[in-house]
Amino acid sequence: MSDTATTEHTFRRYREGETAADIDLEEKIFQADASYKCPTYVHKTPPCQGSCPSGHEIRGWLAIARGMDTPPVEGMTWQEYAFQRMVEANPFPATMGRVCPAPCEDGCNRNEVDDFVGINAVEQYVGDWANDNSLNLGEPGKDTGKTVAVVGSGPAGLTAAYFLRKKGHAVTVFESQEKLGGMMRYGIPGYRTPRDMLDIEIGRIIDLGVDVRTGTRIGQDVTIDQLEKDFDAIFWGIGAQVGRPLPIPGFDADNCITGVEFLDAFNQGWVFSTARKIVVVGGGDTSVDVASVARRLGHITHKADKRLSDGKALGHTAQDVAGTAVREGVKAVLTSLFPIEEMTAAEHEREDALREGVEIRGGVVPLEVIKDDEGRVAALRMCECEMDGMTPVAREGTEFEIECDLIVSAIGQMGDLTGIEAMDNGHGFIATDPLYKVKDQDKHFAGGDIIRPHLLTTAIGHGRVAAENIDHFLAGEPMNKRPKVDVHHFNLLNELHQRGLDPEEYDHTQRRGTSEEHFAVHNYEDRSTTQIIPHTELFKGHFAYEPRETRGEVRIVGDDVLGNFEERIQGFTEEQAQKEGERCMSCGMCFECNNCVNYCPQDAVFRVKKSERAVGRYVDTDYAKCIGCHICMDVCPSGYIKMGLGE
Ligand SMILES: Cc1cc2nc3c(=O)[nH]c(=O)nc-3n(C[C@H](O)[C@H](O)[C@H](O)COP(=O)(O)OP(=O)(O)OC[C@H]3O[C@@H](n4cnc5c(N)ncnc54)[C@H](O)[C@@H]3O)c2cc1C
Ligand code: SF4
Ligand code: SF4
Repeated sequence: MSDTATTEHTFRRYREGETAADIDLEEKIFQADASYKCPTYVHKTPPCQGSCPSGHEIRGWLAIARGMDTPPVEGMTWQEYAFQRMVEANPFPATMGRVCPAPCEDGCNRNEVDDFVGINAVEQYVGDWANDNSLNLGEPGKDTGKTVAVVGSGPAGLTAAYFLRKKGHAVTVFESQEKLGGMMRYGIPGYRTPRDMLDIEIGRIIDLGVDVRTGTRIGQDVTIDQLEKDFDAIFWGIGAQVGRPLPIPGFDADNCITGVEFLDAFNQGWVFSTARKIVVVGGGDTSVDVASVARRLGHITHKADKRLSDGKALGHTAQDVAGTAVREGVKAVLTSLFPIEEMTAAEHEREDALREGVEIRGGVVPLEVIKDDEGRVAALRMCECEMDGMTPVAREGTEFEIECDLIVSAIGQMGDLTGIEAMDNGHGFIATDPLYKVKDQDKHFAGGDIIRPHLLTTAIGHGRVAAENIDHFLAGEPMNKRPKVDVHHFNLLNELHQRGLDPEEYDHTQRRGTSEEHFAVHNYEDRSTTQIIPHTELFKGHFAYEPRETRGEVRIVGDDVLGNFEERIQGFTEEQAQKEGERCMSCGMCFECNNCVNYCPQDAVFRVKKSERAVGRYVDTDYAKCIGCHICMDVCPSGYIKMGLGE
C-alpha cells in the first residue's frame, strides 16, 4: 500500500456539514424540459497511460485481465490476448513488470479512491505467462526492401529493431558486447532482471528475422561512413556507457571506480573486489545496485581477473567464485546529496538495500579522497549539506571521514562517442529533434540514454516512436508532428475490425443524415490523442474500497544476503492479476457497468445488440427518447459519457 493510501472509502460528494442547499447546483439541476444536449461517448486517455513513457495501453490490458474485453479468437486465453495488447507498445513486459519504477501507478486515478492499481505486477504476470508459454511476436511486416542499422542492443535499440521488423524493414543490430540487452544485462544485476527471462524477451525480437552482429563496435570495427553506405537509415541506441567520476581531489586513486565499471565487471563474471569497506556515492538506481551487489559478493581474498565466458550465468559465476573465497561480509555505505527519502532510487529498492545491511547516509557531500602512504584509498572525507535546487551547499564544521578501501562513483553517466565524434552534441550525448531525428544529420535517428539518461521504459518509448518516424522517412513521407498525448491508444476501428464489425464502405452517394447508415461510427468521439481524463471527471462514488493485491517478496536480512543472488519478487497468481484488473476504474472508456442503462428515466439508453457489441460500443442512446437530463453522465463511473450531442 502506498503512503497516501487509506483503508476507507474516501470519495464524498459533500463535505461534513455541507448540504445541497449550500452548493450552487444551478448547472446541475435536472431540467428535463430545457436541456438540448444528449449524451455522446467520448474516449480519453487515462492518466496511467499518459504517465507510462513507453506508452503502454494499460487500461486495455487491465480490461482483458478482468474479463471485460474477451479474446476475439476462440481458444485464445486472456493472457495471450493481454500479451498481444502489451507488445503493441512494449516488447519487454516481464522485465518492465520487475524493474520499472512504475510512474503509471503514481498517475493512476485510483489513488484518489483508495490506492493505485498494481499495474506493473499485472504486467509481470502476463509477461511471465507469455515466457512460460513460448508466445511469440507474430510475423514481420511485408518486405519493403529498405535496410536499417540499429547501433546498440539495449531496450532502445531492440525496441526500434522490433517495430522496424514489424513494418517490414531489414534490420541489422550492431552490439559491441558479446551479448544483447545493454544495461538490462550489463548494468542491472541478475537478481532483478533474471537472465533466462531476458534471453526469452530478447530472443523473440531476434526471431522476427533481425540480423545480429555482436562484438562489433561502431566507430572502431565499422565506420559511420560504412553504415551510411550500407543502410537506408541508422538508429543510435548506444546508451550512456561512461560513469561520471567524482569531481573531488584524489579520485584518480587506483581503487576509485565508477558504478558502471563495477557492475559491468560483476555482470561479465569477473570477480575483482577484495575491498572490505566500500563507499558508494550516488542515490539513484545504479548506486543501490552497486551497494547491494557488493553486500552479496562480500569481501574476497583473491582476484580472479580472468574473464569467464561460459556464458551460462554471467553474474552467478561471480557468485560461485565468491562463494569459495568469501571470508567475511562487506561493509557498504551508500551516500546521497539528497535526504534519504528524496533519493531518486525506487523506494522499495532502497528499503531492500537497508534491510540487507547497506548503511545509507543522506544529505552529505563528498569533499576529498584521503589516500594512504602507497597512494591507495584510505577514506572519503565528506560533510553534511543542504540542496539548493540541484547544487549542494556544504554545512561548515560538519566534516567527517568514512574509512574505506574502495570508492564507487555512481553520480551519473554519459555516452562513449569514441570513433563516432560526429554524433557528439558537445556534451557527450547525441542531440535529436522531437521526432528523434539527429540534428543536422540526414538518415540518422537516436533514442534512449544517449539522448537523455532515464529509465528502461523511456528508452523503449523512444525506440517505438523513432521506428515510426524512420518508417515515414524511408517511405519518403513527411514525418508528422507527434500527437500531444503520444502513447499507444485504443483504436475503435481496430476493435471493430478484429470482431468482424467493420463499418461498411461509403458509396459516396448523397443522403440526408447518417443515423441509419452503417458506414459511420455514431456518437463516438476520440479525444485520446489530446486529452487525459482527470479523476474529477469520474463518478468515484461508484467504487467501493478494495485493498490492492501485492506481490510476495523474499526478504533477506543483514548478512544472509552474502552469496544470495536469488530473485526477490514473487509474481502474482492468475487470481491476483484478475483482481487488480477489476480494481481498474477504466478511466475514459466504458467498462460495461450498466449504470447508464439502469438509471435512465426515459429508457433512452440501451445495450447494443450482442452481435454488434465491442469494447466502447456497449451502450447507445435512442435520441428520440432522450430528454437531456444528464443522469447517465452523472452515474457513469468512467467518465465516458459527455452531454455533447446538440452542441
Ligand atoms: C546499474 C543500473 C541500474 C538501473 N536500474 C534501472 C531500473 O531499475 N529501472 C529502470 O527503468 N531503469 C534502470 N536503469 C536505467 C536503464 O538501464 C537505462 O535507462 C536503459 O538501459 C537505457 O537503454 P538504452 O537502450 O538507451 O541503452 P543501454 O541499455 O545502455 O544499451 C546500449 C547498448 O549499446 C551498446 N553500444 C554502445 N556503444 C556502441 C557502439 N559504438 N557500437 C555498438 N554498440 C554500442 C552498449 O554495449 C549497450 O549494449 C539502470 C541503469 C543502470 C546503469
Ligand atoms: S512500463 Fe513502467 S510505467 Fe509503463 S506500464 Fe509498465 S510499470 Fe507502468
Ligand atoms: S483506474 Fe485504471 S484506467 Fe484509471 S488510471 Fe488507474 S489503471 Fe489507469
